[in-house]
Amino acid sequence: MTFTTPLLRQLALAAALATAAGQAAAQDPLTTRCESAPIAALFKVFGDTGRMPPDLGRFLQDAALQKIEPYKAFDNVYYVGVCWVSAWLITSPKGHVLIDALYGPFTTPMLDNIRQLGFNPQDIRQVVITHGHFDHAGGAATLKAALPQARFAMTAEGWREAAEAAALTTGRPNQWAMIAPDMVVTDGQVLQVGDIRLQAFETPGHTMGTASYAFDAFDGGKRHRAFTVGGLGLNAIKGPEQVEAFIASLQRIRALTEDKTDPVTTHLTTHAFSNGLTENKELLKGRQPGSPHPLVDPQGFRSQLDALQAGAEQRLVAERAKKSN
Ligand SMILES: [Zn+2]
Repeated sequence: MTFTTPLLRQLALAAALATAAGQAAAQDPLTTRCESAPIAALFKVFGDTGRMPPDLGRFLQDAALQKIEPYKAFDNVYYVGVCWVSAWLITSPKGHVLIDALYGPFTTPMLDNIRQLGFNPQDIRQVVITHGHFDHAGGAATLKAALPQARFAMTAEGWREAAEAAALTTGRPNQWAMIAPDMVVTDGQVLQVGDIRLQAFETPGHTMGTASYAFDAFDGGKRHRAFTVGGLGLNAIKGPEQVEAFIASLQRIRALTEDKTDPVTTHLTTHAFSNGLTENKELLKGRQPGSPHPLVDPQGFRSQLDALQAGAEQRLVAERAKKSN
């Protein structure tokens, strides 16, 4: 019957279009502008399930989507990272400090970012790596070769976990190698480069070797106490004790925001999507002279820490239940 043929053809065409639309949807990037909300939402799934959502995995590997123009956040602090992982350059006339090494395809472009901002990477005297996961430590070997004069610092446990994480990738497509331990930082230690004073805090939780750092950020001569929390997520939790350590670290950091003499007011995050940094930094562009600095937001930092703690308390219940089973 001839009338069924065009009908079938139409149905087949509709099915083909639907499949194509489905494929297009699956290939649509999470965001083309590094928006925080969709990235944070999928990282929450990753944290809760321990499984990387495929569209997040694709997004993280897309060099074009990960590109962020380096920018000046404060007079002496610059963002030189990519969309999903930060790297911060703290500058002084007598040498610079770099927080985190990025990884794989992003570490060498980070050095270009530093040059683009008018600085010489060879003036980096100190690299601090917050913890041993590939996205922060994976570029250490590339950096060490490029910056032979720089010292590299992690906590003792950070060095151990970085070596362990790297060893687990041997023979895999995502293989990376860790450098031999260099400087070991301990809680309260102050690393000095020129007039930069970087205070280390051992903040176990995200990993047990995670370090966070406090330092001064200047804005037109006004000093702000800035803080980089070394690890934010619950994606590498190995039991209730680790969640307990995470909560204790969050509470300790929160207390720093309420310090009577020199409170932390600014969170310069390791992951921009965690606190809307990508959006907030746009406010730097249209900023009027004398107006408040958009990244100085102690209440916003406290709210972020409170939200992280609430999530961790939920997780603690689940981890304790898992352990007692
Ligand atoms: Zn991590």
